[in-house]
Amino acid sequence: MPLASFPNLASPNILVVDDNPDNLGVALTFLSEEQFEVAVATDGASALESARLVNPQLILLDVMLPDMSGFKLCKTLKSSSELSETPVIFMTALDEPQYKVQGFEAGGVDYLTKPLERLELLARIDNHLRIHQQSQILQIANHDLKRANQTLKQQNRSITENNHKLQQLVHIDGLTQVGNRRCFDERLNQEWLRLRRERRPLSLILFDIDYFKAYNDHYGHPAGDTCLVQIAQKVKRLLKRPGDLLTRYGGEEFAIILPNVDAAGAIYIANLIQTEIARLEIHHEASSVGPYVTISQGISTCTPLGSIPPAQLLQSADQALYLAKQQGRDQSIHRNQVPPEESSQTIIPPHPAA
Ligand SMILES: [Mg+2]
Repeated sequence: MPLASFPNLASPNILVVDDNPDNLGVALTFLSEEQFEVAVATDGASALESARLVNPQLILLDVMLPDMSGFKLCKTLKSSSELSETPVIFMTALDEPQYKVQGFEAGGVDYLTKPLERLELLARIDNHLRIHQQSQILQIANHDLKRANQTLKQQNRSITENNHKLQQLVHIDGLTQVGNRRCFDERLNQEWLRLRRERRPLSLILFDIDYFKAYNDHYGHPAGDTCLVQIAQKVKRLLKRPGDLLTRYGGEEFAIILPNVDAAGAIYIANLIQTEIARLEIHHEASSVGPYVTISQGISTCTPLGSIPPAQLLQSADQALYLAKQQGRDQSIHRNQVPPEESSQTIIPPHPAA
């Protein structure tokens, strides 16, 4: 059999294990004629040692050995991580079916009966070397596929994370790190639709910093930015429910969406915000209200109806904020957003108790 039969196995290593010198001689003659690299062992223990040392590509194994049976040796080989894949062909004079079955059960791939016949021996070796080689190629391909799959999964995870970060960036105000106007618009529409289905109330607070232009003129824009961040972060911490959303509506104006919050709840939150901002005691020498930064708030509440667009709730809150400004600032005004003839208005005194 020419070596060209094994294109990637220039000199296949074969371990021949047999305690009978005549049998060994026959096998060696046949194999060396085909330029196989052959290692030999004459008992189980030295066969194991040789196998580990040589790492053969195929093992020809006698069933009857002086120290152990070939079946036992084969099982030992199959249980070792380095040699479990090495094909084992049994050689024996025992040609009854039960021995052959035992050989396959022990992990052998084939069974040759003695005396060995040259062409049959070489054909079976050729066949099993090919199968073994193909199986190894498949294993490598499978391993590569698994790695490629893992890489893809990692890339997917990283894309998802980046998308999430991008989504956050798109919805967050860079200066104050609260939601931005886009975030407000989207959430207001979502909550409007949800609460319309659930027939639950939705409240909105619009607030801005009193005399903020004067603050900027007096202290400079960097100080103005710091003031905005302080106020935004303070208010953000005051909103405890996950559904409540603070956004920077524009400039020094902020909007708070309060789903499932009725007028009383919204007024309570507005009072808390007003009190806590007063407690910050941010100096504002250019304010006509007092020595510290204050805010004015417009609050509006409604249970969304099909006929009313969410912009009306916003408009009501805006009108309430305008009134709060007109009536001296540093105060909150609440308007129920209902049809005009039923609209009501509540003026909340400044500096309510915490
Ligand atoms: Mg023997």
